[in-house]
Amino acid sequence: MEEFLKHFKNHSRADQRWLCEVFECVRQQLYPLLDSSLGVSVVRLSLAVVSKVQRAVGSDLPVSYRCVSVSQLKREQRTACFSSLSWSSAHYRDSARGAELMLPEHKPLPRDNLLLIGSLCDGRASGSSDGVWRVRDAGGSVSCTMLTSSCLWLGRLMLFPTWNYIPQNAPDAGYLELIDAPVCVTLEAMAFDPGGTLSEVMSVTRAAELLRQRCEDQVCVCVSGQVSVVCPLLLIAGKRFFCLILSDGGSSVPVFITEAKHQYWRQCVCVGRSVWMSSLRVCSLQGLEGRRVLSDSCQSRLHPHESSEQPDTHTDTLTHTHTHTHTPLLPSSAPSVRVKRSTLISFKGTVTKILNAEAGLYEIDRQVGLCLAYQPAQKWGGGLRPGAEIQLHNVHFTYNASPFAPRVVLCACLRSSVQISAFSRLRSEVEASGSHGPLQRLLLERNLGASQYLWLCYCYSAVSERLCPRWVRAERVCVVAARLLEFVCEAEQKTQKKRNIYREMIQEPHQCPVTTYCVCWPSVALWSVRQVCEWMRREVWVSLSLPSLLPPSAGHMTSLELNASLSWSTHSAPLTHTHLDPLLLLGVLELDSTRATLQLRDQTHALDCVCVQTGQSGAIDTAWQGCLVCVRQCTLVMERFMKTNFPSWKHLDQPSYITHKHCRVYLQLRVDDLTIISPSAAMSRRLSERREESAPRPRRPLTPAAAPERPLTPAAATERPLTPAAAPERPLTPAAATERPLTPAAAPERPLTPAAAPEQPLTPAACVSLLLRLESKQGVRLQNGSGAGHTHTHTLQLGFVCRAVCLGDAQRWENDPRNCRTQERERDGGSRKIELHFMGSCVRWFPVLHPGCVYRLIAPNTADVSVLKATGVSARGGVTQLVSPALLLQPQWRLHTLTDTLTDGQAGVPALMSVSEVLHSSSAPEIVSFYGVVSQRITLQEEGGTKPKIQSLTAAKDPGVVEDLRVRVSVQDSARAGHVIHVYLDLSSGPYTHGLIPGAALQIHHVQRKVSRAGNVYCRSLPISCVSVTDLSSVCSGSGVPQAPPPMMLLGEWASARTQQGVMGQVKGHVVRVLSLRLQWTCSLCGSIFKQTSCGRTHPPCDSTSAVFQAEAKVAVEDGSGEAHVWFSSETVCDLLMLSAGQWEGLQRHIRVKGHVKVYTRGYNMTCDEDPDESLVQYLNCLCSSTAVCRQIHLTCRIRAQRTGKPQLRKVHRGQTEFICKFAPALQLQCQHIHTR
Ligand SMILES: [Zn+2]
Ligand SMILES: [Zn+2]
Repeated sequence: MEEFLKHFKNHSRADQRWLCEVFECVRQQLYPLLDSSLGVSVVRLSLAVVSKVQRAVGSDLPVSYRCVSVSQLKREQRTACFSSLSWSSAHYRDSARGAELMLPEHKPLPRDNLLLIGSLCDGRASGSSDGVWRVRDAGGSVSCTMLTSSCLWLGRLMLFPTWNYIPQNAPDAGYLELIDAPVCVTLEAMAFDPGGTLSEVMSVTRAAELLRQRCEDQVCVCVSGQVSVVCPLLLIAGKRFFCLILSDGGSSVPVFITEAKHQYWRQCVCVGRSVWMSSLRVCSLQGLEGRRVLSDSCQSRLHPHESSEQPDTHTDTLTHTHTHTHTPLLPSSAPSVRVKRSTLISFKGTVTKILNAEAGLYEIDRQVGLCLAYQPAQKWGGGLRPGAEIQLHNVHFTYNASPFAPRVVLCACLRSSVQISAFSRLRSEVEASGSHGPLQRLLLERNLGASQYLWLCYCYSAVSERLCPRWVRAERVCVVAARLLEFVCEAEQKTQKKRNIYREMIQEPHQCPVTTYCVCWPSVALWSVRQVCEWMRREVWVSLSLPSLLPPSAGHMTSLELNASLSWSTHSAPLTHTHLDPLLLLGVLELDSTRATLQLRDQTHALDCVCVQTGQSGAIDTAWQGCLVCVRQCTLVMERFMKTNFPSWKHLDQPSYITHKHCRVYLQLRVDDLTIISPSAAMSRRLSERREESAPRPRRPLTPAAAPERPLTPAAATERPLTPAAAPERPLTPAAATERPLTPAAAPERPLTPAAAPEQPLTPAACVSLLLRLESKQGVRLQNGSGAGHTHTHTLQLGFVCRAVCLGDAQRWENDPRNCRTQERERDGGSRKIELHFMGSCVRWFPVLHPGCVYRLIAPNTADVSVLKATGVSARGGVTQLVSPALLLQPQWRLHTLTDTLTDGQAGVPALMSVSEVLHSSSAPEIVSFYGVVSQRITLQEEGGTKPKIQSLTAAKDPGVVEDLRVRVSVQDSARAGHVIHVYLDLSSGPYTHGLIPGAALQIHHVQRKVSRAGNVYCRSLPISCVSVTDLSSVCSGSGVPQAPPPMMLLGEWASARTQQGVMGQVKGHVVRVLSLRLQWTCSLCGSIFKQTSCGRTHPPCDSTSAVFQAEAKVAVEDGSGEAHVWFSSETVCDLLMLSAGQWEGLQRHIRVKGHVKVYTRGYNMTCDEDPDESLVQYLNCLCSSTAVCRQIHLTCRIRAQRTGKPQLRKVHRGQTEFICKFAPALQLQCQHIHTR
């Protein structure tokens, strides 16, 4: 020490203290590295270090710098930092500010004054020749990268003037970025030993000739040329190697660097550099039909040409215009998919964002994507972080490969090189270290093209965001994403060619999986449940057009009528119409106990579904619960509820009259349109049973435990990303993984849902079961919740009742049988009827219970069969018990739909009546069940403003919602269009019934059939009534109610047969005379007569200023076969009277004076009670008897509701004789439409 300090006698004490530190550091960390044979002393070494440091800094000793050893750095440096001897503070500040300005979301690396000296080595000392350079001292080593490196630096003791240190998540791991070239500290001569006779240096052209000739493999050559391709380092079957291509003029030779001790060359060569390589052997490549290549030998040396130019000779920027070949390359069956050829380019840019490090996706220059997934995983160690400048050579330029990635994506394959050309000055989250993520493994296994891979990455993040971890475990996300990819791609669109790494690296012309790509395909967007909900909530009001909700008679409606017709409306759109690109909804089907509905759920939202049955799939059943499904086709239904107080139709353009609005949105699905991505346990059992039935095979136990899920790829694939070296002809994919089918059917899986998980106890648990066939189902209603607690507080809860037949006695099981096939013993004991009561959370079973289906009811964790014994209602006072014994379902009990057919005692469900039968059958029972199609729905006004007795549960949840929940649904016979029955439904006492929209086919169970005093048949809902939607084809197709024109009718026949002939018909006849005509201005608010400018009502006075004109005419029409009285309402009267618009307006103005006029036939004239001589009456008299009105006319009419009167007695004169005849009351029709004017 003293000897060392002698050299610095004139320095201050602080300097001397610092020098002591340096001396100690050199003695402990560096001196042991030196070969003792060199005879260098510690003092000499320390002096050399100090002089190099002084030279790097300037002149003074940098006393603020602290010596740091590698082990200290790794142990103590927890945050990323920057250290430099040579940079001034101003230089550092400017550089940091520049980087920060470019990417403001990242902070620059903080500066630390550290002095780092060590030896550069390539990892052989620590036993791994992985091509990674390291900085080593006596205490340890840390991996490092340099922008340019020379072979001459290896093994030398170096001072590192400027560097970044990036710590890594793992303890004792870190990574150094050596910014400025290291300074050699030791004094040995740095002569280059090429290790071969340079006189034999061969040009690339000559070497290429040599490879073409047949010559002995033993020949050793020294080749000089320019590096044109540097392939990534590969690790195959435990052996590391890389390949580079030397070019010169028009020829090129591939060189494989396979020696472990030469792997560090990978950092010394880069595209554009000129090098010499000595002692290269010629060998043939088994993996590529024995093609001859050059390979390094033990004695090989790499020597860079000092004169070589900078490598960026031909880097592109994106201003470069690309000519793309638009030739469709694959004559595919789906012509919509365009296939393009990518171009190979070189590119220089700055990493601006890590899109998905695991998937190898980065963003460059804020607009270009970079995909490294086709290269083996490399340890970037944090180097590829935002702010790093990179140079890419031989990357594939793709444009519009996927709508879910940047427009331009550069794909690196095995021929591409990615090199950092300037380290980032910014810090960011350290990316995942270099191993293949599941997505990249899938890419290798399936040989995915770039477009498909980009879609897969998009799908992967969508699935993990929305379904993981609640329904899909993190390690299964990739499987789900792969199945979705399978679903959206047809098989022929996948890249078929197996990857051959040697061909990919060296063959000309270049062929690899990204040589061609599909343009924007797959373009299917995955919407989250929340997205589709939000779209609907927006769309429902965007699509609102008030006039379109009103009938043609809107102009004559009073305020009450007008607002009533606006109070409810519906809008529906097929999913395929919501977006330009195809859409896919992804979610888990679950049963909701608060609304008794089926829901599609993900982590963003839950959406009610109305699931209907069409085709062979049958109705939705219990096995669907917990299935992860995707939906490509469905109908989005939006129901609008509005409270409005428009005075008249003239005010429709003023939205301020809408006082309240809300909507309900839900999906209408068909079972056939559901695609299972991951089945529930019950569904996978059913599918496997079906498969066994269709193809009898030796039975495997299909319990989930017996077929455990394997990770998608064998573990070996992770370690050996690119296998073929050992067996070169094998495809890249591990064979085992390819054989594994990925169809959901083939892999019985554990359920995805936690809800279903408790069904799989780890230890076998006893349970009891009961086999049932459902006979009927009642509607869900709020009921007194006496079942659960037996308390006297009357809490209302949802509940419903089913009637069922027990097909046998309760059975005891060792293991939960769930939905497996029925056993013989389950049907022992004879059948008996029971009632099943579903209360509280048990109402969730409502959507999956269908009359006629067979269910197994399971009470888990008990061996006591008596829990499933139905009990009779205690009869009191000798009352005979009429109801069946009842069973109250417990929340933990489960139901399973059984699909195996039961041959014995298949008592069918009673057939439903049609609407016509309900209307016309004289023997119809009081309580009827029927089917039909909704043609109209009207919200009924609350009577006298009374509140509904019970608010719906859902309405109670958000207090802003106040609804009229009583509706009149007109149900039309599905075969005979004219036959319509009105059903009055009270929806306020249960969860909202979805799907009651025009066009929906319904099954209406247990409603009361009533006959009005006018003789009309209608139905009223009862607490037990149940409405279910069965078909939506007419809703889905958007055509509304199928409108066949009503039949042509003869009045005579219609009058005699009345209702049997249907209620609608077309009539061609002659207007005999106008029997009465009423014209009136009506106050739109109170309905009183409106004179001039004020309402006629006085008690209490009405201050309304708006009135509507209303007209009604009763006309006798005959057609030769009979006569009818036809009523015309406001909108048809003008047409009946053959008035022009101007005449009609004028007439309305005249009537405004008195407010109203009513004329009727007396004798041959028309008269009026009040002032028969008035000119207006005279005019109407003339008009009504004119030939313009009394003419041939073609009408569409419906039977007018009327009281069935007694036959009329009328005097008829025949000559002198007077007869009294009995006339049947005239047929009363309401005109719907006048066909002729
Ligand atoms: Zn390529
Ligand atoms: Zn009024």
